[in-house]
Amino acid sequence: MTNERFTPAEVINRLAAEGVGFTASHDGPAGKVTVHLSPDQTARYWDDPPAAFAEAYGVSRAQYLAWHRGGYAVQCAARTAKGRQCRNPVQGGHLVDSPAKWVALQGGYCLIHGEGLE
Ligand SMILES: [Zn+2]
Repeated sequence: MTNERFTPAEVINRLAAEGVGFTASHDGPAGKVTVHLSPDQTARYWDDPPAAFAEAYGVSRAQYLAWHRGGYAVQCAARTAKGRQCRNPVQGGHLVDSPAKWVALQGGYCLIHGEGLE
């Protein structure tokens, strides 16, 4: 053994080269979700887990965190007569299982506003 010091990224890349894979788990609408991470994403996870998950899902870190914070629901983009944002979820926007889908549904409308009933 040598006294060489390795950065986390170097250790991860060496392990990956030997065929070691990496996964990490986070909370989701139906319990824990396990995500496969690339070596780069694993290195990022070392410093910033939300950033690593966000990259794995192809969304921004802020979007990934907002997906959790909003209870995995996408709120209707319409305003009520009082000028408040409608509190109903958009169609298909309840317990959304992926942050990418959550981002794609932003700006949509609930059943009532989507049908122009109000
Ligand atoms: Zn609405």
